[in-house]
Amino acid sequence: MAKILCVLYDDPTDGQPTTYARDDLPVIDHYPGGQTTPTPQGTDFTPGHLLGSVSGELGLRSFLESRGHTLVVTSDKEGAGSVFDRELVDADIVISQPFWPAYLTAERIATAKNLKLAVTAGIGSDHVDLDAAISNGVTVAEVTYCNSISVAEHVVMTVLGLVRNFIPSHQIVLDGGWNIADAVSRSYDLEGMHVGTVAAGRIGLAVLRRLAPFDVQLHYTDRHRLPEAVEQELNLTWHESTADMVPHCDVVTINAPLHPETEGLFDDKLIGTMKRGAYLINTARAKIVDRDAVDRALRGGQLAGYGGDVWYPQPAPADHPWRTMPHHAMTPHISGSSLSAQARYAAGTREILESYFAGTPIRDEYLIVEGGALAGTGAHSYSTKEG
Ligand code: NDP
Repeated sequence: MAKILCVLYDDPTDGQPTTYARDDLPVIDHYPGGQTTPTPQGTDFTPGHLLGSVSGELGLRSFLESRGHTLVVTSDKEGAGSVFDRELVDADIVISQPFWPAYLTAERIATAKNLKLAVTAGIGSDHVDLDAAISNGVTVAEVTYCNSISVAEHVVMTVLGLVRNFIPSHQIVLDGGWNIADAVSRSYDLEGMHVGTVAAGRIGLAVLRRLAPFDVQLHYTDRHRLPEAVEQELNLTWHESTADMVPHCDVVTINAPLHPETEGLFDDKLIGTMKRGAYLINTARAKIVDRDAVDRALRGGQLAGYGGDVWYPQPAPADHPWRTMPHHAMTPHISGSSLSAQARYAAGTREILESYFAGTPIRDEYLIVEGGALAGTGAHSYSTKEG
């Protein structure tokens, strides 16, 4: 029987909701491109309920306990003596969400002698030291595509929020004011702007598709080029590298995984090559940009706005400079954890666990590391320190 250690974010400050704003979720059975949404043999939760918090337990408890497994759920993941560190030593499986990542460092993996499977209930397994997982035979899996569209919607919202200066304008209303000039002196139309994405995978391409009707000029860079038909349909300009693309763009959105190739990509030098007054939106991973370079660029006017939902570390400390830098549209890490997304990644986590316990293959598209090597989606989108 296995011990499953699940690290989830805290419950709402007023406790787990007893009612919800809406009664149901749209039924979505496949993603763009045809991949099916998760297909577990069963679920024990109501889609649309809060599942990603400690009391939500990703809807896993009765499934696991009825099969004799032990489920430990905690939000306490940092610092000496955390519940996570304490329980990790004999855990067989660790589950965590990128929004509240249980950082599975090489040191922690070394202490987790029984660890066989690390599941990301979401997308993006950079909180797991993949090299250590590879050398310790730990399988890493994530619920590919579960929240890609959720994030794409957040990107579009943030682009519009920044370009149109929505957040300060809303604040004027909250403050009882009405000074139109204060609101509009930083407000522009998106129409006609050049918008580029760093990576055109599931999220990047969904962002391009959603922005195309705004009559913008679309650009992208990626390690693999999109099919010619897609480039033509969306009138895309492809660039060999991020450095080649960003000087042409008014808006840049980052949609690449964090791995050695992308870490620290947006530093002072690269940001310095962007158009003065460009907007940078990062919902991928914080470490793809240099934290202080972004702060400097906003204060100095090189960037007109920065937005997104990814920070390092998470949760971000109270004195993190991004909380107080000017012209930002930051949220906590929420874009991929809408109630809609939670229903999909809870079901996908269950599907992965069902496969694991049955000894049947985990869907190839969910795999990041297996059998001591990058595998499935991991082999396509990630790199190790060796390349
Ligand atoms: P995909 O794997 O579908 O797409 C990632 C794309 O990035 C691939 O097309 C890949 O290229 C490309 N890529 C990798 N390295 C580079 C590079 N150095 N330069 C340019 N392109 C590169 O993933 P998703 O679109 O679903 O997700 C992307 C990332 O977004 C995740 O890894 C995660 O970090 C983040 N994310 C954030 C969420 C949030 O809540 N904020 C939720 C979900 C994801 P190719 O495959 O062609 O090699």
